[in-house]
Amino acid sequence: MRKLTILGATGSIGASTFKVVEQNPEQFSIVALAAGSNVDKMLQLCKKWQPKFAVMADINAAQKLKIALASTHPSIEVLAGQEATCQVAELAEVDTVMAAIVGAAGLLPTMAAIKAGKRVLLANKEALVMSGQLFVDAVKQYGAELLPVDSEHNAIFQCLPSDIQTNLGHCSLDEHGISHILLTGSGGPFRYSEIESLKGVTPEQAIAHPNWSMGPKISVDSATMMNKGLEYIEAKWLFNAAKPQLKVIIHPQSVIHSMVQYRDGSVVAQMGQPDMATPIASTMAYPKRVPSGVSGLDFTQLGELTFLEPDYARYPCLKLAIDACFEGQHITTALNAANEINVDAFLQGKLGFTDIARINEMVMSKVCATDSYSQPLDLESLLEVDKMARQMTNQILRECKL
Ligand code: NDP
Repeated sequence: MRKLTILGATGSIGASTFKVVEQNPEQFSIVALAAGSNVDKMLQLCKKWQPKFAVMADINAAQKLKIALASTHPSIEVLAGQEATCQVAELAEVDTVMAAIVGAAGLLPTMAAIKAGKRVLLANKEALVMSGQLFVDAVKQYGAELLPVDSEHNAIFQCLPSDIQTNLGHCSLDEHGISHILLTGSGGPFRYSEIESLKGVTPEQAIAHPNWSMGPKISVDSATMMNKGLEYIEAKWLFNAAKPQLKVIIHPQSVIHSMVQYRDGSVVAQMGQPDMATPIASTMAYPKRVPSGVSGLDFTQLGELTFLEPDYARYPCLKLAIDACFEGQHITTALNAANEINVDAFLQGKLGFTDIARINEMVMSKVCATDSYSQPLDLESLLEVDKMARQMTNQILRECKL
């Protein structure tokens, strides 16, 4: 039986993870749950799953949870703060950690799981975007097992030879006969909208993804296609891909979740319903297969599958991320940080939809011009770049009075 810690338990990936556990109660047990501040949801989860540990990053939220559980579930140990989140990622009795905290907040807990040599199921793409080489080197150094949850990377992983699967980030695609990694994306809710109309997009419209049900930040990122940009960077690190080996293709139906093209002309694709329980189950049981609760595809009902080139005028964030990817680690770390602040401001109604790309670009240009951050080699330097980019973004937001 695999023993799990779920980081980001109260979120959308958390919910799909529980769905897989529910389908396979003899194979998985839950030791620890961690989240940010949603006490009501965590309370519900604690009552249902009875973990040994429940962590809230927010100290007040932890206090409330502790009081709420005291009389009915005194055996659940409630902990608070980021350090405790890292501790439950390192627990000796846990072998598998679902890394599904949203954003940069996931970096240190995910790193803690890696340094403890766990099987790490990586949903938190921002952690890898922020730390790239450091992340994949740590996986190797500490003997952790990295399995990508993001549906595209999980699809690519499934299409790759086992040599690469077991040594992510360190194998040559060329030596394995691979010519291209083909990263597909639906194009989000505005793929057919007039570009001029995007200015007036509301948070409600942006988070209404046509194919996938996800948390608010990744839903906005999907609408701007920054998500595909972050995935492009994620793919570079996971698959050790050079720029000419990585391509983004719009595939509105989200049936093919990504592909690998081989030198001999073969293209290997992974397909399925757009439901995260499938990639999550494939990582949780790897290399075995378990039920995920998701039905297979009915090919007679699929209809047409279409593919097109991304249009950078519609998706400037995608272009920014692709440009940033091979510019240096500090640029992608800064872009990720700026994007988090801008998406948050947009969700709060303080920033226009198209301003997300505009301010991301302003921050990226400023950081590109800052020599002193060109070589962040350790975690502390990366966190410093992240902090600096957040300050820059907040300052621009204040100056623009947005
Ligand atoms: P949600 O917004 O639904 O959930 C985010 C989770 O992170 C919540 O449990 C939240 O807790 C927790 N959290 C937020 N801040 C902190 C913090 N400081 N410390 C600890 N926990 C925190 O996001 P998703 O589930 O959609 O996404 C999670 C990650 O997975 C993201 O990186 C996303 O890019 C990635 N991903 C998601 C996919 C999806 O389909 N949803 C697909 C592929 C990747 P609380 O609720 O208490 O605030």
